[in-house]
Amino acid sequence: MQEPAIQNIFIDKRPEQLKMNVLLFVLGIVIVGTLGYDFGWQTAVAGLREDAGHQLDSYVGALTSELNRYGYLPAVIALNGTVQRVVLHPDDPRAVLQANRFLEAANREADAAAVYVMDLQGKVLAASNWRTNISFVGKDFAFRPYFREAKAGRTGRFYGIGTVSHAPGLFFSRPLSVGGRIIGVIATKVSLGKLVLPWLGGRDPILVADGNGIVFLTSVPKWRFESLDPLPPATIRHLTETRQYYAAAPLKPIGLVHVGKAGEASLVDAPPIDGGPGNKSRATEFLLSRSPVPKTDWQILLLSDLRPVAGSAHRMALALAALMGLGEALALFLLQRRRSVADRLLAREALEAAYNELEQKVVLRTRDLREANSNLQREIDERQRAESELSSTFEELAHASKMAALGQMATEVAHELNQPLAALHTLSDNAIVFLNQSREEEARGNLAAIARLVRRMAKITGDLKVFARKAPPKVEPVIASEALNDALSLLGQRLDQEKIALAVHFPEDEPPVMGDKGRLQQVLVILLSNAADALRDAPDKRIDIFFVVEALALGESVRYAELTVADSGTGLSASDLERLFQPFFTTKPQGGGLGLGLAIAQGILRGFGASIKAGNRAGGGAEFTVRLRLAKETGRFE
Ligand code: ADP
Repeated sequence: MQEPAIQNIFIDKRPEQLKMNVLLFVLGIVIVGTLGYDFGWQTAVAGLREDAGHQLDSYVGALTSELNRYGYLPAVIALNGTVQRVVLHPDDPRAVLQANRFLEAANREADAAAVYVMDLQGKVLAASNWRTNISFVGKDFAFRPYFREAKAGRTGRFYGIGTVSHAPGLFFSRPLSVGGRIIGVIATKVSLGKLVLPWLGGRDPILVADGNGIVFLTSVPKWRFESLDPLPPATIRHLTETRQYYAAAPLKPIGLVHVGKAGEASLVDAPPIDGGPGNKSRATEFLLSRSPVPKTDWQILLLSDLRPVAGSAHRMALALAALMGLGEALALFLLQRRRSVADRLLAREALEAAYNELEQKVVLRTRDLREANSNLQREIDERQRAESELSSTFEELAHASKMAALGQMATEVAHELNQPLAALHTLSDNAIVFLNQSREEEARGNLAAIARLVRRMAKITGDLKVFARKAPPKVEPVIASEALNDALSLLGQRLDQEKIALAVHFPEDEPPVMGDKGRLQQVLVILLSNAADALRDAPDKRIDIFFVVEALALGESVRYAELTVADSGTGLSASDLERLFQPFFTTKPQGGGLGLGLAIAQGILRGFGASIKAGNRAGGGAEFTVRLRLAKETGRFE
C-alpha cells in the first residue's frame, strides 16, 4: 500500500507546475519590462520637459532683452528737436538733411536696421538709411499696423518683411507729439537675424511664432514663414493687406501633427528636416514645449528630440526586466529548494512508514517461522523417536528371526556336526589301532584328519556364534564378498545338498561399501535362504550373485554398488511384489516362514543408508538388488 505513494513522490516531476512557473516568469518579466519602459519614458520626458523649460526661459530672456533694448529708441528719438522740426517743416530741405543726419548718427550707436520719421499720412520724411539705395525716405508705410498704432497714440510693435529692403525685421513705433498733439510717428526697424545665429548650432529646432501662429524666426530655415496651424482665410486676407510677410511663401502649414500630450507639452510628429544647415537631426518625433514672450502675442516653441527618451526608456525597461528576471529566478530557486526539501521530507516519511510496515511484517513472519520451526522440530523429534522405536523393533525382530533361523539351522548343524563326530570317532579309534601296530604314519594321517575336522567344526560353531550375536550396528567400509563368504559358510551345506548351482560375479578390484559386515551377512543369508526355498521344486536350480559399480547417472561422479542375488525359481507375482517387504507377508506353508525376512533385510539396509528392490529376471526367477553406498563415492573410476 505504501509503494504507490513512494513512486508518486519520485516519479511526479510536476510538469504542470513547471509550465505555470515558466509562464509566470515570462509574464513577470514582460509586465515589469513594460512598466519599466513606461516609467523610463515618463521620467525621461519629464527631464526633457524641464530642460526644454530652461532653454525656453533663456531664449525668452534673450528675445525680451533684445526687444527692450530697441523699444526705447523711438521714444528717445522723439525728444529730439531736429526730428520734430522735419515733421513740422517737411518741405524745408535743411530740416530734412539735419534730421536724416541725426537719425543716421543715432542709428550708428543703436545698431538697428533703420530709424525713421513719418508724417501722419505714413510718408517717411527722414530715415537713417537716407544715403543707401534702400532708403525709406519718401516711402509710404500707412498700411503698416505699427504706423496705425502709433498714429492712434500707442506704441506699436510689428514683425514683418520690409517692402523696400525685402529683409525681415522687427518694427517698433511711437507717436511724435508736440504740445500734446500727435504730429508724426517715429519707427525703428531691428533685424533679429543676429538673435537666430546662436540657435542655428542647437540640436533641437527653435521656432518663434507671432499671434497668428506664423513662424518668423526659426533655426530650421525651410519652416520660416510657415504656420503652426492652417490659417483661416480672414487672417490670410489681413496679412495680404498689411503686407506683413510681403515676399514670403504662401504661408503654408509646417505640418506638425499632435500625437499626444506630456504635461503642458505635447508630442508631435514633424516632417523630416534633415539637410538644413541649422539642424542635422533626422528625428521626426519631438516633444513640443512653448513659452509666451512677455508684452507680445508671440510665443517661442522648442522641439526636443524624443529618440534619447526612447533610448533611456528601453534601457530602463531592460534593466528592470533583468532585475525582475534575477529576482524571479532567485524566488523560483528558493521555492524549488523549499519544495524539494518538502518532497524529501515526504519521501523520507513514506520510506519510514514503508520500513516500519516491513519491519512489522518481518516480525510477524519471523514469529510464524519460529512457530513453524518449532512444529517441525517437534515432528522431527517424534519421527526420530518413532524411528528409534522402529529400529529397536527391527533389532528385536532381527534377533528373533536369527533365533528362528538358528532353530531351523540347528537340525542341519547337528547333522553337520554328527558326520565329523562319527568320523572323529572312527579316526581316533583307528589311530589307537595304528599306534598299537606301530603304524605311526597312518596314525599321524588320522590325527591330521582329526585336526582338520575339528577346525571345520569350530568354524561352524564360530559362525553360528557370530550370527546369533546381538551387537549394535556400526557403519564402516566393508568388503561385500567377505560378508558373502560368511553367509555361504552357513548355507553352503544346504546349497550343496539341494544341488543348487552357485555363480558369483565380483569384479577383481571390488571397492569397499559402507555397512556392517555381520548385518550384511545376515541380509545375504535371508536372500540366499529365500532363493533356495524358491528353487525347491525348480528343474534348473541356480543362483547368480552379481556385484556391479554404477554411476547415479551418465557422467556423474557419485557412484554406488549393486549387489544382486538372482535365482531361477518361481519368480514373483505382481501381488507378491506389492507386499513383499511388509512384515508377516509370506506365501510359505504353515511353519515354513514367518514373513519377516525381507522386512528385516530392508530395516537393516536402511540402517546403513542402503536400499533393496525386488523384480523378476528376464529368463524366469526372482532377483533382489541391494544398493550400497561406496566407501569412497568418488573413487578410482575418475
Ligand atoms: P518368509 O521367507 O518367512 O516367507 P520373507 O519375508 O523372507 O518371509 O519372504 C516373504 C515372501 O516372499 C516369501 O514367502 C515368498 O513368497 C517371497 N519370496 C522371497 N524370496 C523369494 C524368491 N527368491 N523367489 C520367490 N519368492 C520369494
